[in-house]
Amino acid sequence: TDTPVSVLGLGLMGQALAAAFLRAGHPTTVWNRTAAKAGDLVADGARLAPSAGAAIAAGPLTIVCVTDYPAVRELLGASDVELSGRTVINLTSGDSAQARETAHWAEKRGARYLDGAIMAVPPAIGTADALILHSGPRADFEAHEATLAALGTVTHLGEDHGLASLYDVAGLAMMWSVLNAWLQGTAMLRTAGVDAVTYAPFARQLAMGVADWLPGYAEQVDAGSFPAEVSALETDARAMTHLIEEAEALGVNAELPRLFKVMADRAIAAGHGGEQYPVLIEEFSRPGKE
Ligand code: NDP
Repeated sequence: TDTPVSVLGLGLMGQALAAAFLRAGHPTTVWNRTAAKAGDLVADGARLAPSAGAAIAAGPLTIVCVTDYPAVRELLGASDVELSGRTVINLTSGDSAQARETAHWAEKRGARYLDGAIMAVPPAIGTADALILHSGPRADFEAHEATLAALGTVTHLGEDHGLASLYDVAGLAMMWSVLNAWLQGTAMLRTAGVDAVTYAPFARQLAMGVADWLPGYAEQVDAGSFPAEVSALETDARAMTHLIEEAEALGVNAELPRLFKVMADRAIAAGHGGEQYPVLIEEFSRPGKE
């Protein structure tokens, strides 16, 4: 806990990160473009550096968490910044190409660079609920893993710097899919007087039940073989029609169910009607129609 750490960027997230390091006892140096945001942290024992370069020079490990990658490049590219021999962990959200480009850029300047993604809101930082993903050289992650553990549940996904961003967006796809499916069901049930709070525990059970299918279905995806062990896609497509018709009859939104059916129908037209649902990976693996 006596390993020094520097935090660049003190927005809502950066402040939470710096506060978690302080609570864990790490000597913490902070810097923000707008210095006033460091006030609470300094009161709690953080040292405020006069520049990004000074903050990076203060210790071996620097965490960066600002709005976007152009901001990261701007602050790391400042003339007084010396990256050689330093480890930079960039927890700013972005896409996988930005992560790989920034890794290349930082490594050319002599930095050790890990790219990360935060799957948590600021109040969760410092608790096990905060999932913090890292990708890049494993040895650099392991060298700082004990320090990073102050932030939450930290994981290393692999050497490819783009992986943290990819897992991050995969998480967004999961989140919105589950939430949209729940809202669809809630809208339909409310027409019969069932309120959201009544349906939610049932919806939760359904979501967890479906989630349990994923490991087995994943084996089919990896094998590229989709025998209909429990249900054929054309059976699912009939149930989709049923869902669409019910939504329409109830006067609620049917756009999401129609999208499900459009994709299933395309796979059926391509000859996959007798195979199992994960055969749709072929539809998901190429650009769709606008
Ligand atoms: P805020 O808008 O609260 O803070 C943005 C920070 O970026 C500020 O410190 C700001 O400095 C700094 N900044 C922006 N542009 C520049 C620049 N050109 N040079 C230097 N500093 C700059 O955002 P958050 O803290 O909420 O988010 C930060 C990152 O964390 C984002 O990538 C976000 O996606 C990610 N994240 C946030 C979550 C959240 O719930 N808040 C959840 C998961 C990820 P200044 O104060 O001077 O404006």
